[in-house]
Amino acid sequence: MGSARGSYYSALKQITKVANSALSLRRICNSIAKSAATAVQANGCRILSLNPQKEYLITVGAYGLSDLYLKKGPLDVHKSLPDILDGKVVFIADAAKDKRVQYPQIALAQGISSILGIPVLEKGEAIGEIRIYTREPRQFSEADKSFLLSVADICAVIFERAELHQLLEQDYKANEKRRKSSRVSPLPATTLRPTSFAHPSEEDFAKLLDFYCIEWLYEPRSFPLRWEGDKIAEMFTPDFYLPELDLYVELTTLKQHLLTEKNRKLRQLRELYPEVNIRLLNKNDFLKLLAKYGYGPLGEAKVEGIDRVLYSHAKIQRRVKTLARHISRDYAGQRLVLIGILKGVVCFMADLMQNLSLPVTLDFMAISYYGGDGQVVKITRDLDSSITGQHVLMVEDIVDTGMTLNYILSHLSAHNPASLRVCTLLDKKARRLINVPLDYVGFEVPDEFVVGYGLDYKGEYRNLPFIGILHPELTKGAEPH
Ligand code: 5GP
Repeated sequence: MGSARGSYYSALKQITKVANSALSLRRICNSIAKSAATAVQANGCRILSLNPQKEYLITVGAYGLSDLYLKKGPLDVHKSLPDILDGKVVFIADAAKDKRVQYPQIALAQGISSILGIPVLEKGEAIGEIRIYTREPRQFSEADKSFLLSVADICAVIFERAELHQLLEQDYKANEKRRKSSRVSPLPATTLRPTSFAHPSEEDFAKLLDFYCIEWLYEPRSFPLRWEGDKIAEMFTPDFYLPELDLYVELTTLKQHLLTEKNRKLRQLRELYPEVNIRLLNKNDFLKLLAKYGYGPLGEAKVEGIDRVLYSHAKIQRRVKTLARHISRDYAGQRLVLIGILKGVVCFMADLMQNLSLPVTLDFMAISYYGGDGQVVKITRDLDSSITGQHVLMVEDIVDTGMTLNYILSHLSAHNPASLRVCTLLDKKARRLINVPLDYVGFEVPDEFVVGYGLDYKGEYRNLPFIGILHPELTKGAEPH
């Protein structure tokens, strides 16, 4: 016991020393992984951070694990030892047989028996993990766990510091850009981006994906292509994986010799892994691909006037499908009248109703605002059919102060429907003046002016397939109604 305590002490001394050094995040975490694994007499360790969407885990440091194991595929937080992110210490006695392990066959092939997972918590919320691996099946003592929890606390401080550093750097770059021109500012990072790119073109690609709010993982999987006996003689690691599109992307330039070599590897990969969706892309191909997935009229990569994308097309579609499922479940066996206010709701209404598994009818109203402060609502087009005795769902694009909805709801209630509920895609809660009941909400949006997917600014932007934040310069002084 005394010697174990001694090894924890010298490991912690080493860890705090390296944590306080000027090394890169990756090198600090590699060193911590080594000290932690050695102190608890394990064979390997990896330190993981959550990606900004909090859906995947990204390796920030590792020790004693093969490249193939580290790049075995995207680590989905819901499938890979999910309890750790609830703040629990998780012990896996036999990695090859445990359902909580996402890639059990690879653990088996790599000779990994036991895994201990420790949450990295920041103010009680998980931001990452430490995982300890052993070749022999073994238990861990309470002292091991308590030592690793301290290492996790140190990791949390390191992550926080790196995030702050990134934010400051971005802020500096954004200001520099603004000084040079009045072009758009980059997406502010809210979570650590622990990725070190091999090439500047990959970083550019990642920025473009960030702009379109498309989730990405950098080099999450290596595909063995050729074996010599038991040994892997050739591997291929595509640059990116885009989970929303289930697509691996390898970036390329037009240099012919590189292209031929990459094409050869890709052919081999497709033969060996027919289920894997992979594309070799140069910048132009990528812009075309974005257009194919509905990312707008893209002569240029960025849409003029849009500061950043808040919800991608894919994300909106996923959310609309979930809302439609809830509505279909709640109204099962009934008929429903959907009512929308023109024109902002057109995209949402069209997608929502196509996903409802109920008999529905559709009606629209139009309104205008008058009065000094533009807050008095007048109905300029009323319903076509009576709603008396019917189940009515008011479908809204965005609820802001709640004035419009409050007025419309009292107008509709006067017609004595059998029931009256509200479904809004966006809820700008921060600006609410009247407390209107919202039964189904797509997303809670920040207090910023949003456009796209039906929502306009001076009549424009309705056709964008995503919801974006308009550049604040454009809306200066233009309050929503
Ligand atoms: P409320 O009466 O709740 O304040 O305003 C609702 C209406 O204001 C919405 O139907 C919409 O027309 C407009 N609105 C409020 N916030 C925004 C926004 O961020 N973007 C756009 N395009 N319209 C908004």
